[in-house]
Amino acid sequence: MDWNLKILGSGSALPTNKRKLSGQLLNTQYHSFLFDCSEGIQFRFKEYNVKFFSINRIFISHFHGDHIFGVFGLITTFHMLKRTEPLFIYAFKGLDKVCEDIFKLTNTKLEFELIFVYLNDDRDKVIFEDEHIEVHSFPLKHRIPCCGFFVKEKLNHLNLNKEFLENNDIPLDWLSRLQKGEDFVKNDGEIISNSKITLPPRPLKSFAYCSDTSFFPEIVDSIKNVKLLYHEATFDNEHQKDAINKLHSTAEEAAKIATLANADTLLIGHFSSRFININIFKEEAKMQFYNVICAEDGMDITF
Ligand SMILES: [Zn+2]
Ligand SMILES: [Zn+2]
Repeated sequence: MDWNLKILGSGSALPTNKRKLSGQLLNTQYHSFLFDCSEGIQFRFKEYNVKFFSINRIFISHFHGDHIFGVFGLITTFHMLKRTEPLFIYAFKGLDKVCEDIFKLTNTKLEFELIFVYLNDDRDKVIFEDEHIEVHSFPLKHRIPCCGFFVKEKLNHLNLNKEFLENNDIPLDWLSRLQKGEDFVKNDGEIISNSKITLPPRPLKSFAYCSDTSFFPEIVDSIKNVKLLYHEATFDNEHQKDAINKLHSTAEEAAKIATLANADTLLIGHFSSRFININIFKEEAKMQFYNVICAEDGMDITF
């Protein structure tokens, strides 16, 4: 099944009429993950008619307000909707204490558990894993500690070649072993290579979220061959000095990362509110990478 990414906000720092602040919802067949959670994000779920009750994990890249101020409102909305399922929040240490204080102050007694998983930005590490996917966090380079996230699908099982099965007598108890990649051993000892029995695996899906970072090629190893790469592009080339001073990236730098990482598609966003027209971002990114999408609020990307 395809994955879908919904853009809930594509601007940085100051909201405009056209662009709200950071938030992206990734839906896979089995998961609903929210990456960053800017102010008023629950209104955008309503505005775009997006089901959000099933969000089970929220990943917060860093503690700048344009990435975090929506957490409290969203949790309160879950509470009002009588959520009972636990909610996992991946963030640097400290948010748990702030949530505790806010909900105490507002006399909100949550009926569901908030489970905080602390990030740290010292190295690439697996922060969540199940039978379908794994999620890594890895350090970005920003003014305060900041992590990117990489979600990658796991190869569960190989599909069997029907034609081969029809023409050969394969005992039932062998089927799951073959799907796991074993070669088939016939009763007479002859070995049939797994590649003749199974179909080549389809390319695995993956998504990387690189929010708020200066140009930082050290991340490339963490996101190699990613299918959809989101990388911030706050400025155009004319404002490169601002990018350097504020530890953000230009569109062209984001595209250089996409090339180095051998990404399939580059999605850029977190555009500075000073830009009304963002065509220049696409033009400059395309000088380095061929397949570029500029994020727009409400956009869906299926991959
Ligand atoms: Zn930001
Ligand atoms: Zn920031």
